[in-house]
Amino acid sequence: AIEITKMNKWYGQFHVLRDIDLTVYRGERIVICGPSGSGKSTLIRCINALEEHQAGSIVVDGTTLSSDLKNIDKIRSEVGMCFQHFNLFPHLTILENCTLAPIWVRKTPRKEAEDTAMHFLEKVKIPDQANKYPGQLSGGQQQRVAIARSLCMRPRIMLFDEPTSALDPEMIKEVLDTMIELAEEGMTMLCVTHEMGFARQVANRVIFMDAGQIVEQNEPEEFFNNPKSDRTQLFLSQIL
Ligand code: ATP
Ligand code: MG
Repeated sequence: AIEITKMNKWYGQFHVLRDIDLTVYRGERIVICGPSGSGKSTLIRCINALEEHQAGSIVVDGTTLSSDLKNIDKIRSEVGMCFQHFNLFPHLTILENCTLAPIWVRKTPRKEAEDTAMHFLEKVKIPDQANKYPGQLSGGQQQRVAIARSLCMRPRIMLFDEPTSALDPEMIKEVLDTMIELAEEGMTMLCVTHEMGFARQVANRVIFMDAGQIVEQNEPEEFFNNPKSDRTQLFLSQIL
């Protein structure tokens, strides 16, 4: 589980996250939405210790994120992350992209790392692309590789930051389908996305952020049909 208590973050003078209280239980599928600049990416990045927070606490599966970076490897190996831009290594094959961290960070024997990589490439339905380079794949395929690469580290939690927003429409579905499958297998997921169909279908909780705060959260049915705050109503009226 993730337990965030009274967490605050500043970029210099700019107070970007304000008193964030959020507990994510094992197996939960949470969608985070909100206007541009509301702090969604920053929140996700704090959970993965890609950004430091200055006040309050973040505890991931019992490990407290602290500024001395002591627990950073532990957190990163438990929390997988998938971004809008896939960030694959262009000079490595798909298979090598998937085995790099397991071999060098986890010290997994190469053969075992490759077997695991093929298992997850099959899962995201592109085992036939294993020996190609990222530039030879479509955007949707690259994003599925990025997901497979994260899964090769056997994370207990997956964070997604707008994984489909850089993709052409016909490729969005194949990535969402992969995420839906993960959710069905019980992966704990935190997804920043504006795919509200996905939110309705998969999320057990939808969180709305504005100006660095969690303004409202609810189960999808209530959230969409009966938003409480004016800001949520305005946001939904603009995107639905
Ligand atoms: P979007 O929907 O556009 O992705 P977001 O909700 O993910 O927006 P963030 O990227 O978390 O928003 O940014 C929140 C605020 O923090 C914005 O005002 C942004 O300009 C600011 N910000 C983000 N990164 C930095 C940084 N490295 N230094 C200073 N300010 C930053
Ligand atoms: Mg963002």
